[in-house]
Formats: sequence, C-alpha cells, structure tokens
Amino acid sequence: MRRPMVAGNWKMHGTRASVAELINGLSEQVMPAGVDVAVFPSCLHISQVVDGLAGLAIAVGAQDCATEAQQGALTGEVATSQLHDARCSLVLVGHSERRSLLGEGDEVVTRKFAAAQFSGLLPVLCVGETLAQREAGQTLEVVAAQLSVVADALGVEVFAAAVIAYEPVWAIGTGLTASPEQAQEVHAAIRGQLAAKSPELAGKVRIIYGGSVKAASAAELFGMPDIDGGLVGGASLNADEFGAICRAAGS
Ligand code: PEP
Repeated sequence: MRRPMVAGNWKMHGTRASVAELINGLSEQVMPAGVDVAVFPSCLHISQVVDGLAGLAIAVGAQDCATEAQQGALTGEVATSQLHDARCSLVLVGHSERRSLLGEGDEVVTRKFAAAQFSGLLPVLCVGETLAQREAGQTLEVVAAQLSVVADALGVEVFAAAVIAYEPVWAIGTGLTASPEQAQEVHAAIRGQLAAKSPELAGKVRIIYGGSVKAASAAELFGMPDIDGGLVGGASLNADEFGAICRAAGS
C-alpha cells in the first residue's frame, strides 16, 4: 500500500505577510494522518515556513535546486546541501515552467535529481506533455522519454527514494484538469515502464498528479489505482482548499 502525498507548489508567490497568513491557515487545518503533506514555498520564504510549521506534520521543500550538492562559486544558485541545512526535505525537479520558460533540459534535470538525493532530499521529478504533443498522440512517448533520461543515467533504483509527478503542461495553471481516466492512463504507463526494470520498485513508487487540482476534482483523481496524490499549484495558496485536497487523499 502506497502512502499518498499531497504537495503544494506556491510558485513565485508570497510576501512575508501573506506567507504568515498561509502558515496560520495551514495550522488550522485537520490534516489526514495517512497522507504525507508538503509545501514548496519560494526559496526566500523557506526558513519562515520551516519555523512557522514546526510541530505540524507538513514537510517543506524547495521549488528548485542547483545541479551541485556542495556550496561553491555559483552565483544565485542554492546547493542541495544548503536546502538540507535549511531543513528542507524535498525538492521539485524539472517542473514544466522551468523546462519550458527557463530552458531547463534533461541533463540539468538529471544532475539536480542526483544532487538532491546526494544531500538526502527527496526529489519530486515532474514529467508531462504539452498540448501539441497530446494532440499528436505523443503523450506516453514524451513522458517515457523524460523518465528514461533519469533512469538511464542514474539507474532505475534511484526511484526508490523519489516521487514522480505527472503534470500535463496543458493542465498547469489553466483550470483544465486531466480527466481521472486520462491521468490514470499515463500513471499506469509510468509504473509499467518502471516495472519492466523492477516490478517491486514500481509497486512502491508514488506517482502524483498535478494540473489544476481543486478540492472538487481531487477525490475522483486520487481514487484512480495508480494516482497516489497530487502536486497542487494555485489551489495550494488557499489553506482551506489545500486542506480539503489533503483530506481527499486520505479518504
Ligand atoms: C504546478 O505548478 O505544479 C501545478 C500543478 O499548478 P496548478 O495546480 O496551478 O495547475
């Protein structure tokens, strides 16, 4: 039985004041005991969130990391060891906004994934197709290739200490959610790809869905056999909505 995970990606949102409000709101939520809950604030607010959520069962992650584990001369970047030192326990790797808007390629994504694990962080590897790729019937091929890059470079066993987030690019921040059946098809394909190398590992890896998840759509998505929770963007900025999504994963 896989333990569900619901993670909130706050993206480039928040001021110290609004983050404090969100922390307060989260502290009032009844979170389900059987679900791993995490939030990913901007790097600037990680310490505030770690301190503010102390004592609550909500982990804190970073939205990105350097390709390097160790500190060094790399202006503007944050080493994975620094994130670990800041008490982050997870990091998003290869979010589509970074892939498409910031030109992050597969090699960089793979190095970030490796650096994260080297520093004891849980990488959440984001994969997903664009609308054009879906319409061209390339969804499974694109997602498989994104997964293969990491699996081939680092070995499939690295997924024993990672989470995979299937996030169709066309569903992120658009209000369009993949149907439970569309998402399930891709999640099953991801698990099948891992199973071809290691059936035991494939049965244990958490594959979460992201793309305009709301409280209203969460239960149906999370009810699919290969969907182990969600990566939530916009809706995670509202503590009540996020709390409801977390509870949907626990029901
Ligand atoms: C995301 O940023 O990972 C995401 C899924 O965003 P949204 O929920 O807003 O679509």
